[in-house]
Amino acid sequence: MKLIFLGSGSAFAPFGNYQSNMILQSKSGKNLLLDCGSDARRSLNEQGYSHNDIHDVYISHLHADHVGGLEWLAFATKFDQKCQKPLIHAAADVLDDLWEKTLSGGLSSLQGINADIHSYFNTNPVAANSYFTWSNIQFHIIQTVHVISGYTIMPAYGLLFTVNNTTIFITMDTQLVHFYMDSIYQKADIIFHDCETSPCKSGVHAHYSELRELPSEIKRKMWLYHYNCELLPDCKQDGFAGFVTKGQCFDFS
Ligand SMILES: [Zn+2]
Ligand SMILES: [Zn+2]
Repeated sequence: MKLIFLGSGSAFAPFGNYQSNMILQSKSGKNLLLDCGSDARRSLNEQGYSHNDIHDVYISHLHADHVGGLEWLAFATKFDQKCQKPLIHAAADVLDDLWEKTLSGGLSSLQGINADIHSYFNTNPVAANSYFTWSNIQFHIIQTVHVISGYTIMPAYGLLFTVNNTTIFITMDTQLVHFYMDSIYQKADIIFHDCETSPCKSGVHAHYSELRELPSEIKRKMWLYHYNCELLPDCKQDGFAGFVTKGQCFDFS
């Protein structure tokens, strides 16, 4: 099982480093795309993939750096006879909103029919505190605290899964919330954590200055991604595993 970063930038990262979408590639050559942002058409191409190679997609939440490429994937697979409908896995509340709030504007008009999400995708809604299975691996969805809007937390979910006795936690997008996250950090053998590096803090991502205060045994197994600027701090000096770079591949086989 390989985890390949199509990019490692934030939604606003400079061009050249793409948004932080990833491919999980099974031994048998199946691909699970982890989020499909507005850069996905180009970032997939740069790593040698096309829409043809995407059989399954996991969607963490509805920001455009995570879902903005789905209209492209929908049309590209719909009008390519070689393709089957991709299967979208997502938390049930994310999936409930995906069509109405994000996709229907461009995809509901299809020549000859009134289209809905099933005109383009198969869907797998994942219940709260549950998991989906892909390539015999159970992917537990972990609700994160990304954006608190009024008194409501935007639905957003990271993933916790185990491959060959290695437990992997990918945060997708989250703030650093110690009382909630610390036990998950401890459970994981390797952590991929979104990390804001801009001087101006958005408040909706863990910032480098906060992550730097984590205990050394957590930082040692933590890779940072979804960062902003090109001038990055020396994170290895600060005890982290490193900043993920575009195209970087982690082999868990
Ligand atoms: Zn986000
Ligand atoms: Zn994001």
